[in-house]
Amino acid sequence: MFFPSLTHLRNYKIDTFIIEKLDNWLAIQNKFTYNNLNPLQFALDIKINESIAVSIFALCVQKPINIMNVKYKLICPNCSELDRYIYDDLSVLNDVTLDCDNCGLPYYPLEFNEFIEVYFSLNVLPAHDPSNLIKLNESTEKILGKSESLRVSDIDRFSLRGLFDSYGSTAI
Ligand SMILES: [Zn+2]
Repeated sequence: MFFPSLTHLRNYKIDTFIIEKLDNWLAIQNKFTYNNLNPLQFALDIKINESIAVSIFALCVQKPINIMNVKYKLICPNCSELDRYIYDDLSVLNDVTLDCDNCGLPYYPLEFNEFIEVYFSLNVLPAHDPSNLIKLNESTEKILGKSESLRVSDIDRFSLRGLFDSYGSTAI
């Protein structure tokens, strides 16, 4: 495997087929994408339920798997521009009002869960070179399309808030 600690997903009754797909999917991402992993794209690419994909990514943040970090980006609800800052933990935004760099209007980010993007960054490299896999995948698999970005409001919709402790460090 490229990411051997993914085998711990079996302890959560995750199907071996999905674990192998995730291992390959992570290995073929380019370096830029390592910091912008979207579980909805994984769900789209391998045709699984979105909430399962988000659950699996949340488990990958936690020990003993611990190969990803969760990140949050704010979108201004007034002009839809992305804020320049990236957050590891939304609890630092409790009672915080921000002024948008683009339109200048103030907003209270935690009031707008649908404007908070959630994504994951990979914090380890593949255990071995995936170049053979890339050739294989180009000929055998098609990317089906581009997913929407995951939002905090989706986590609530999937009832997965329990996997995201205070939207910050994840915990079960
Ligand atoms: Zn704005």
